[in-house]
Parts: sequence; C-alpha cells; structure tokens
Amino acid sequence: METLKNLEIGKSAVISKVGGTGALRQHFLDMGMIPGVKVTMMKHAPMGDPLEIRVFNYELTLRKDEAAKIEIGYKEKLSDSNADFSDSTAEKETSTASNDLLTSHPGLGEDGKYHEKETETPLPDSTILTYALVGNQNCGKTTLFNQLTGSNQHVGNFPGVTIDRKDGVIIGHPKTLVTDLPGIYSMSPFTSEEIVSRNFVLKEKPKAILNILDASAIERSLYLTMQLLELDIPMVIALNMMDELTGNGGSININEMENLLGVPVVPISALKNEGVDELVQHAIHIAHFQEKPVPQDFCSKDEAGGAVHRAIHAVIHLIQDHAERAEIPIRFAASKIIEGDKIILNMLDLDFNEIEMLEHIVVQMEKESGLDRSAAIAKMRYSFINKICGKTVKKPHESKEHLRSEKIDKILTGKWTAIPAFILIMTTVFLLTFNVLGAFLQGLLENGIDFVTNLAA
Ligand code: GDP
Ligand code: MG
Repeated sequence: METLKNLEIGKSAVISKVGGTGALRQHFLDMGMIPGVKVTMMKHAPMGDPLEIRVFNYELTLRKDEAAKIEIGYKEKLSDSNADFSDSTAEKETSTASNDLLTSHPGLGEDGKYHEKETETPLPDSTILTYALVGNQNCGKTTLFNQLTGSNQHVGNFPGVTIDRKDGVIIGHPKTLVTDLPGIYSMSPFTSEEIVSRNFVLKEKPKAILNILDASAIERSLYLTMQLLELDIPMVIALNMMDELTGNGGSININEMENLLGVPVVPISALKNEGVDELVQHAIHIAHFQEKPVPQDFCSKDEAGGAVHRAIHAVIHLIQDHAERAEIPIRFAASKIIEGDKIILNMLDLDFNEIEMLEHIVVQMEKESGLDRSAAIAKMRYSFINKICGKTVKKPHESKEHLRSEKIDKILTGKWTAIPAFILIMTTVFLLTFNVLGAFLQGLLENGIDFVTNLAA
C-alpha cells in the first residue's frame, strides 16, 4: 500500500483512500483530498516534515504522519487539467449539463414548498438588515469588513469562546449590521471557529449572507459556498482578490457563474476598494426582498452522483417535519446527517425507526457509490465545483508574487541552505539586539537615569 507520505517530490498521483477518523478525516475531505483527486508533492520542509502538496491548484501543508493516512495509486492517464477527478465525469458532462442546471430541478421534494421561489414581499423599511460575513481564512474578510463599515465597528466576543466578534454598520446604510465571522473552510462542527460561524447562521438567523471568496483559490472557496447555499438564506457572493487574478491573466465569466450558482456574484477587490459599492447594492437588495438562492441540483449524473442524489431526496422526505420543527434548513440538515453530523442529528430529534431508516439509506448510498458517507458528500460538492470552474474560470498564469516567493523559499527552506540561513538570520537579530540597538538603548537609559539622579540631587 502506497501513501502520500512516500510520494516523490514533483510527482503526481491519484488519491485512492482517505484514512484517519473524526475531525481530521473530515478536514482532509473538506480540503479536497477525496478519492479520485490528483495530488502533487511540491516539497518537503528542511527536516523532512511537514510536506507541501498541491491539490485543486492550491498548496496544502501536511504533517508526515497525516500524509501517511492518505493512500494513493497511479492511474495510467493523469490529465493535466486543474482539478482532476480521474474518471473526469465532470468534464464529460460539461457540454450537456448547462441546460439541465438552468431549468428548475424536477426531482422529488425539490419542487415542494421548500424550494418554490417564494413571492417576494419586501421586509418593512424599519427592519435592520443583518448580514453574516462568511469566508475562508485569509480571503480578505476583515479588509472587506473595514471597507464596508469604516470606523462604525463594535468589537466583542462570541459567547463562551475567545473568538473576536466584530459588528459594524455599512457606511451610508444605517439600518444594516454586518458581523465578521471567523474564517472557516467548511460548516463541519469540529473547530470552535466552525461551530461559532455555523451557530451564528443557524441560530441568530441573519437576514442575508455575504459570502466572500478568494478568486485565486476558487475551488476551495466554493466548497464552503456549496454548504451555505443549502441554508436557503438570501446570499450574495463577493469574488475577492480579482485584482490578483486578472493581473496575472486569469478571468471569470461572472454571468455564467451566477447562473450556475443561483445567487448574485460580484467581482471585487477589497484591498483596492473596487466593486464594493456594487456589492452593497446587491446585498441590500437581496436582504430587503429576501431573495433566496435559486435551488440547484449539485449531484452529478454519473453513478455515484445518482446514488448521493437519491439518498439526499430520501432523507429530505424522511426528516421534513423534524427539520421544520427544529428550524433547520432541510437541504442542509439532510446533507449534514448523511455526512454523519451528530449535532444536527440530535437537533432533529428523530424517532428510533427514522434513525434506523436513515442508516439504511446511507448504507445503500455507500454501497452504490463505492464511497463512505463523508467522502460521498465531499465528492459531490467538489464535482459540482469542478464543473462550475471548468465552465467559468480561466486560470491565471503563475503570479510574479508566487514566483518570487518560490525563489526565496528555495533558499530559506532548501535542504542545505535552510539551517545556515536560519543561523545567519538569528545571529543578525542577536547582534542587532545586543550590540547595535541594545548598546544604543543602554546608553540612552544610562543618560536618562543620570539626568534624573542629578535633578533629584
Ligand atoms: P481575513 O483573514 O479573511 O480577515 O483576511 P484579511 O482581510 O486579513 O486579508 C488577508 C490578506 O489579503 C491581507 O494581506 C490583505 O491585504 C489581502 N487582501 C485582501 N483583499 C485583497 C484584494 O482584494 N486583493 C489583494 N491583492 N489582496 C487582498
Ligand atoms: Mg480577519
């Protein structure tokens, strides 16, 4: 059995099995390490641990013993496209799927009352439009929050945890309140950030979600988006870092992306304050008119996708009344309990028979799709993302910044140069502290004390 740990630098392979348990395993899956996905070993740290791998066009750092839990194989044909499911069903479908996605989804359950486009009655003008600002870490949330609110900020804590909570009013729109939530990659209930963000959205029921994406790591950003869309809360997507993407020759077909996702998408650069006005207009509109996402069928039409699709529908029927009572969005509840989310399962308060039925549905899905419950759901999401990106994203060439950082890394983390570089830097810091700066400060202090002593005398 070969694992990711032993993959040679520069070589690629296809993930065949994801080991590990609980939070760690879910995290692997959430980050795109799913059976069938291509991974490339980029480099090792100077002491051999951790490892940097590339998956879905972004780099991920793993400990060696974590990488040992990921089994890999080599399929004969590895395509070079961005994000590869080796069976490449996503690509094959591209030509036909576009029309399917635009028509309303005919499957059972989804044309029921939960997914009818509700007649839009605007909220009364006196309503405070509350927004949750949700996105990955480092995607520019705080930068955008500052642009939106200026100095109208209130800083506090989320109850029970030492995670900063910032609320602010959008400049020029006194009846709004935006909350900057902790950066997360998934709506799984494992890290305290994930729990805080998810509880905020589920329990405090903001009027709308501002989902901010990093356009330069679009696949990973969209993974969270997929889960937010299931919440059936009005939402607008801010596609951030567009300056970097376009600056390096990339582009995104915004209209097509809006069609495929069923929510407004606004390209912005939070740093340069570009597109933020348009974002605010959309945000106010969707919240005021309570425009919910147009429901999409995320499942691919291949065998595994079909199995997941059927399971989701079966579970939706099974838990419909419970989800309503517990006030949890039904599609979110269904995919989460299929994933194996115990918290949502408890909140639904299912009957013994219903739980048994749920488990039967899941086992059948696992059998038909050949994937376990968590992997099947993660793969469904990434397949859909793959399809969207294949149609809308023109990848940038490697950025100047990235090339520069690679060059610097070559020396700073190189096998033979890293330790000398480290010693050199530390020696410089040491000398500066104790000789140059230290001596200067010491002199200053002595003079000061002398001065005060004389004065006192
Ligand atoms: P957060 O972790 O999501 O709150 O992200 P921050 O707001 O702290 O931003 C992370 C980094 O991305 C900072 O260095 C920002 O200056 C940078 N950044 C944010 N928005 C943009 C943008 O639109 N373009 C570029 N090039 N950089 C950005
Ligand atoms: Mg931040």
